[in-house]
Amino acid sequence: MTSSPPFFPDRRRSAARFERYELQGHARVVLGPLHRVRVCHRHRVPLQSVRVLSDRKTKHSHLAGLMACGLVWACPVCAAKVSERRRLELSGAMASAKSQALVVLFETQTVPHARRDDLASLRSALSAARRRLFKDRAGRSLASAFGLVGPVSALEVTHGSNGLHPHGHVLRFFDPSRIDWPSVCAFVRSSALSSPPAALFRRLDVLPPVGALYPPAFVEFASFASGSGPAPLLCPETLLYAWRFLNTPRWVASCVAEGLCAPDYEHGFHVQNGNFAAEYVAKWGIEPSGDVWGPDHEMTKAHLKKRSNPACGRSTWDLLRAVRDNGCSLSADLFREFVGAFHRAKQLTWSVGLRALLGVGVELSDDEVAALQPEQADVLCSLDVVQWAAVRRFSKQADLLDLSETNPAGLSAFLDDLVESARIDALRLAAVAEVETTHGLRHAINRKKSRVPFTAPPLRAPPDVHTPAYAALMRAKCAARRSPLQARLAAIPDG
Ligand SMILES: [Zn+2]
Repeated sequence: MTSSPPFFPDRRRSAARFERYELQGHARVVLGPLHRVRVCHRHRVPLQSVRVLSDRKTKHSHLAGLMACGLVWACPVCAAKVSERRRLELSGAMASAKSQALVVLFETQTVPHARRDDLASLRSALSAARRRLFKDRAGRSLASAFGLVGPVSALEVTHGSNGLHPHGHVLRFFDPSRIDWPSVCAFVRSSALSSPPAALFRRLDVLPPVGALYPPAFVEFASFASGSGPAPLLCPETLLYAWRFLNTPRWVASCVAEGLCAPDYEHGFHVQNGNFAAEYVAKWGIEPSGDVWGPDHEMTKAHLKKRSNPACGRSTWDLLRAVRDNGCSLSADLFREFVGAFHRAKQLTWSVGLRALLGVGVELSDDEVAALQPEQADVLCSLDVVQWAAVRRFSKQADLLDLSETNPAGLSAFLDDLVESARIDALRLAAVAEVETTHGLRHAINRKKSRVPFTAPPLRAPPDVHTPAYAALMRAKCAARRSPLQARLAAIPDG
């Protein structure tokens, strides 16, 4: 006998996809029936049928003909798709920067806040402080002396003991051939004499034993900044310390000017080398796709990570997980507040001309990325309105995609079982699906206004494609549908 294809070989990918749709369901409940996430991957695009596509290159399945919300902060399904594309763009940018011998620094910008702070005002003040950092003449001349080519800025929010914590990450690209080291040294000397970081470095200088705690390049730089040593060796490490030394007081001043509390000198403006993937893996743990966690992952997928250490703060999807696992109403409120505060906020912002310089290509909006389909794909199956309504009814989108990747021959039998399980009058189901597709949210609003009670028809438990019993049943159904010739061919032993 020919062997049947294995069911769900990539369990990790399958589980992640299942959770995305599951969390999307919870986001829908938390955000209410009028939020845009309600239609995402549920309502059909008018005049289109729902299709299951198989990407010829990756062999991954996708659903086509469905509306996508493109809300990276609210929708786990769209967030995964959009941030994956952004991550690939960042990887390309990092590779291009390496080939052009550019130096990359990774900044983390934070501000102090309290649990009672309003997240929306905190985020807008943080964004204003970040824009202010290099807006004035001194900032521009500093950037020019360092040979700054451009930044890519990312916004992130976590939840910790002080409530929701918005902060920024920035990848800064520098051209070493354009660094004006005499000017940088002059900036450091003048700043060391007049600004608060001089006190910081003097304090660091007297910490015993300095050499054991800090890299030699830092000690060399710190002694130069405090006026007790010669000019440091000019290298990317020196660039890192000089950048942090000069910009920490500027960051504090920007925050204060925007009405924020003054950030801590040691943690408010943190700068790290671009090559610290191993450090990030140790710090934050799980990476969704199995690759090594690098700066490009941190920039775009930080809010997708599961926090293994509660002390590090929860990601915003962890709030939805708390709603799912414990029905936590506080987490639901926090998620609602977060989505409202981050509405229309860009996940990544590239400086003008940087994408062209690094050969990343034209930037697409979140909506455009969410609606993208694979360039070369085969249509595995096309669902009619009743079949799609049944899939929606049981939220079986992830199962449908799993099955299409591992046993596409079983799709038809699976859909028949779903429709049968729904036990719904086909005409009624079709009518509901059509109205929702055509009118979208208006239908929901009218239903709410008219106060007509909507009673769901009785349901039978839907088939669970992950059980071996169902797999065997499905294989039997597929075999029964084969033509006599196919059945005879299948009965011939291998070899
Ligand atoms: Zn979505």
